[in-house]
Amino acid sequence: MDTKGKFPLDKFPKLETPFYYYDINVLNRTLDSLTTEAEKFNFKVHYALKANANPRILSIIHGYGLGADCVSGGEIRAAIQAGFPVSRIVFAGVGKADWEINLALDYNIFCFNVESIPELEVINEFAAKKGKTANIAVRINPNVKADTHHYISTGREENKFGIALGDVEKFIDAVESFSNVKLVGLHFHIGSQILEMNNFAGLCSRVNELQDQLAKRNMVVEHINVGGGLGIDYHYPERQSVPNFADYFKTFRSMLKLRDGQTVHFEPGRSVVGQCGSLITKVLYVKEGTNKQFSIVDAGMTDLIRPALYQAYHKIENCSSEKPIQKYDVVGPICESSDCFGKDVELNGTKRGDYLAIRSAGAYGEVMASQYNLRRLPQACFSDDI
Ligand SMILES: *Cc1c(COP(=O)(O)O)cnc(C)c1O
Repeated sequence: MDTKGKFPLDKFPKLETPFYYYDINVLNRTLDSLTTEAEKFNFKVHYALKANANPRILSIIHGYGLGADCVSGGEIRAAIQAGFPVSRIVFAGVGKADWEINLALDYNIFCFNVESIPELEVINEFAAKKGKTANIAVRINPNVKADTHHYISTGREENKFGIALGDVEKFIDAVESFSNVKLVGLHFHIGSQILEMNNFAGLCSRVNELQDQLAKRNMVVEHINVGGGLGIDYHYPERQSVPNFADYFKTFRSMLKLRDGQTVHFEPGRSVVGQCGSLITKVLYVKEGTNKQFSIVDAGMTDLIRPALYQAYHKIENCSSEKPIQKYDVVGPICESSDCFGKDVELNGTKRGDYLAIRSAGAYGEVMASQYNLRRLPQACFSDDI
């Protein structure tokens, strides 16, 4: 499908490349679908800020009434600044620092997702000092498979995340022995960029088994948090610009055996913001190599690190050219061989000054940008105000 018309090329020359271009229409359609489908089952959705914490994006997401899933004190502050109510902020992460725990306690956030007994002890101690009781959910490593890159799979025994299934009762005993923490939920997250509903069904089975096990000690928690992880179509960003939230939620609705009054919480990140963003970069040079040609662009792994970090695929388009297709390795200016956005990429004939769009870059793109090589950070622009 020809997608070039979707970029306002006439507006680009006034912007310094590289920059992130956010299609607000795609973001709104995604949020419409997400909230409509979740409301059908009364599912609670906390947006995972780590995917994209651009203030404008956050304020749009907040406008749809979502909660926030934060993994640092900085994210808690950004969520509050964007207007997310503290009563709908959860705080996750395997290594919460003292100041971050204290900050979260001071704001009376909804819940800590706790990953170890030593962490539980510290939260209990700090809560006691403040005369508070902290709501906690235990993050459990369900040891289920996720068909995704091993760097973004989190729910296997060998990962650093969560409490092993066999240690859950020991953790609950610990919670019961402390007076300033209260167990309100069970938390899971099996990985990211998951498109196989079977993987989520596997998670549901583990949740059900664990609930049966806890029922034996007359224990029912208030909420089940199944994390995030729904993937997007990186190869065909147009074919499914809005992820299939209907099937995703139906899988949980049909598979989870809930107890009376239990609510289900989700923490999507990538699926909310992935497709609305593109990294726009200009071609600096076209260089003929021995067996290939390189399109050297002004964006690098400092602007979008996913290809270098996890060999991630992003579709690349030449927005400025209708010339016949040729193959290029699209590479950045950074002094690292991994600074490559794609090998043998089929692009319309490319010359210096052409605009390339690196698609599906709304999640784990801008937010992961760095200044390595003392580069400038990429700017952001929005379809509705350029
Ligand atoms: C990263 C993460 C998420 C969001 O994952 P996506 O794949 O972006 O949906 C949600 N919950 C936890 C605990 C995470 O670590």
